[in-house]
Amino acid sequence: MGEPAVQRPALLLLSTGGTIAGSGATSTQVNTYAAGALSGDALLAAVPELQQLATIRVEAIASVDSADLQFAHWRLLVARIREAFQTQPDLAGVVITHGTNTLEETAWLLQLLIDDPRPVVLVGAMRPATALSADGPLNLYQAVEVAIDPQARGRGVLAVLDGEIHGARAVTKVATQGVGAFRSTGAGPLGWVDDAGVHWPAAAGAPMVPFAALPLSSMWPQVAILHGCVEPPAALIPALLQAGVQGLVFTGTGAGQLSAVERTAIDQWNGPLPLMLRANRCGSGPVHRCADHARLGLLPAGTLSPQKARVLLLLALIAGYTRADLEGELQRLGLMAV
Ligand code: ASP
Repeated sequence: MGEPAVQRPALLLLSTGGTIAGSGATSTQVNTYAAGALSGDALLAAVPELQQLATIRVEAIASVDSADLQFAHWRLLVARIREAFQTQPDLAGVVITHGTNTLEETAWLLQLLIDDPRPVVLVGAMRPATALSADGPLNLYQAVEVAIDPQARGRGVLAVLDGEIHGARAVTKVATQGVGAFRSTGAGPLGWVDDAGVHWPAAAGAPMVPFAALPLSSMWPQVAILHGCVEPPAALIPALLQAGVQGLVFTGTGAGQLSAVERTAIDQWNGPLPLMLRANRCGSGPVHRCADHARLGLLPAGTLSPQKARVLLLLALIAGYTRADLEGELQRLGLMAV
């Protein structure tokens, strides 16, 4: 009699590149390497312990540094995850290997678009796979532990790095190098992973998925981010408006303050105004509604970082939102007080 067959949970691993798949010339190089050089299969092969945890199917979406991700990659990723969840009832979850630089944008995009209780877990690494003390293999192992954990269901899109589990809305890269580069700004991590397993100190509260049914076409709107500073160039905003940007995110100073230069440029524009959000450059804390900015057509992004505010604007524009629709969505998402 042979051993009884063990049924392991089925996972889909989608590789996109990044430092987790990075390869350097020597094991001591941690800054100079080619991102996305290794395949998803190679990453899996480097962690044989994963075979005990799950049956993992690997597919490549891209092999890029995450600064080079394009809307076409995002579209592919969303389509593949939606299809996998629709057609594979036995699938436990999805793991995505991703560059850390824009991981939080992809996580938030997926949070707004993927409506399924099964976990989607993003994972990256700060050191290339070839480095001494590479962090990718353990991060990948722990991401899989989270993805197959029944208690991960209904918690939305997650990111796992350094033994911490972050939610898509709060996860933020806060350091340019070294491990421990991720935080849930304005909140703590949702949980952690260690030898005793996966820990969730709080009950699951399923995040909203406002664009679950939104089809993504190949044409995406243009949304620019402007960074607030002392006396910004006066020509910048009129140039963007004349170029026809459909969305603008202002990274305001302090609690989302705009300069007179910026307010005047918007005030004097007599064409159609783009959808506009005010975020802040402080890195944490909310931006609230303000009568002066509302008069100019600007809505507050709440606690969203400028890059996540941009993701929201992209999807709002694809969905054909008016400013009033966007205001309603900000309220439903708890980003703007009623
Ligand atoms: N260059 C990398 C990226 O693709 C950085 C990283 O993954 O840590 O974002």
